[in-house]
Amino acid sequence: MGGSCSLEVGTHLVSVHCPICSWAGRDWYAVESRPNSFAKKICPQCGGYPRDRITFILLRRLQRGQGPKRLVIGEIGGSVHSYSWKKKRYRYWNADIVEGAGWTVDVLVRGCRIQKSPPCADIAILSYVLSQVETKSVRIGLMKELHRLTTREGKMIFFDDLELTRKRHQVYPKGAFFHALQLGHPILNELKSAGWKSVIINALELKSIQSEMEMPFILAAKSEALLFELVRTTRIAPQS
Ligand SMILES: [Zn+2]
Repeated sequence: MGGSCSLEVGTHLVSVHCPICSWAGRDWYAVESRPNSFAKKICPQCGGYPRDRITFILLRRLQRGQGPKRLVIGEIGGSVHSYSWKKKRYRYWNADIVEGAGWTVDVLVRGCRIQKSPPCADIAILSYVLSQVETKSVRIGLMKELHRLTTREGKMIFFDDLELTRKRHQVYPKGAFFHALQLGHPILNELKSAGWKSVIINALELKSIQSEMEMPFILAAKSEALLFELVRTTRIAPQS
């Protein structure tokens, strides 16, 4: 169900709703998204961000199209507060680059290789990792690694600090608040080099989860046909 409808619950006007934990309220809580810049986007109950809510809805739709077999989800990046619902609902593993919060994850990435051999994923998620990686070959290597660790029908959801109208990646000053890079249009060629077909998602009819906060993001798959199937199953209309 999409749309931006509001509903009355008791005396409180409810205009946002968390699909993950069912919290509902007038607005999300503010979180610092740049130094001294706050955005109302965090769920006060489960700590979820817009990308978590988008991912929750996309995975639920993909699982429904799958029958009783639980999807295998493999993620590089991802937020700690999203582990519990991902592990509860799916066969889920998480990896992170060593410079990240490596000690909290299931497997580590060294160079571009994921240690051990986690089960091949139906859906890969790459979340806010590549903007920490300033070397192009390493970015492509990480995307290739997810390509290797997904099934033949493998698909990917990719969130990051994306400004795809830019002709180049923008390098932030050393010690930048969150990211080293803002990824521009060349990231699409990097995805291609790693074997992924991709589509940019600029808008979603999911206003009550305030999804526009994490736009654009990218859906990717191993072939055009699989990408078409991904878009159809998630019921997302990509905008060109
Ligand atoms: Zn929540």
